[in-house]
Amino acid sequence: MVELRNVSVTYSNNTHALNDVSLRINDGEFAFVVGKSGAGKSTLIRLLLKEISPDSGKIMVNGFNLDKIKKGKAHKLRRTIGYVFQDFKLINTMNVYDNVAFVLRSIDAPLKYIRNRVPYVIGLVGLKDKVKCYPSELSGGEQQRVALARALVNDPQLIIADEPTGNLDPKNSIEIIELLKGINECGTTIMMVTHEHDLVRQFGGRTINIEKGRITFDDYIGYAQ
Ligand code: ADP
Repeated sequence: MVELRNVSVTYSNNTHALNDVSLRINDGEFAFVVGKSGAGKSTLIRLLLKEISPDSGKIMVNGFNLDKIKKGKAHKLRRTIGYVFQDFKLINTMNVYDNVAFVLRSIDAPLKYIRNRVPYVIGLVGLKDKVKCYPSELSGGEQQRVALARALVNDPQLIIADEPTGNLDPKNSIEIIELLKGINECGTTIMMVTHEHDLVRQFGGRTINIEKGRITFDDYIGYAQ
């Protein structure tokens, strides 16, 4: 669950990145957040991960009141969120299995759990045959699938996908969104941030437009025939 109430962010150079933004994404929803470069999308993501704090307003994410999280405790919030980047951010010296297992190893998950969970999520994203491959041996679409498996492996309540199709061709872009939709159908809340209006229109669904730091549209759109 994501809730912002009257949130504003001004950077030190006096840029008003977000102005009085209110929105709510309920558990189990899939929402596209759409806006041009400079609209405030990254600022919104940075707020949700508590990398920055707002000047004013209230933010709740997955039951955490972000005002109340003490310094040094933001990792508790971040563990409830899976994050997918535009440029995949895989570790080039690790194969697919280790790229995904790394997340669980870094939080000291039990070995038995890792051995079950990692192959399971790699299977979910359709990469069972590639577990031993290194990122350099994978296509862009496959690398983004690994990134998705990595975001999923800790069973997050919310996945934030930040321009996940930005480096992909149309076919792979569609496949990644279909995978995200499938993950959403299993109960995970998804917020997909993108500047690709056409792609969003192709799928339809809840669409939140941000322009110059303000929400200008928040409604359901039908998919293009
Ligand atoms: P988007 O992700 O939609 O491209 P951003 O959230 O990155 O938009 O930026 C919103 C506005 O805030 C832009 O005008 C941008 O130049 C400005 N901005 C972003 N980050 C910073 C920063 N660290 N310092 C100053 N201004 C920033």
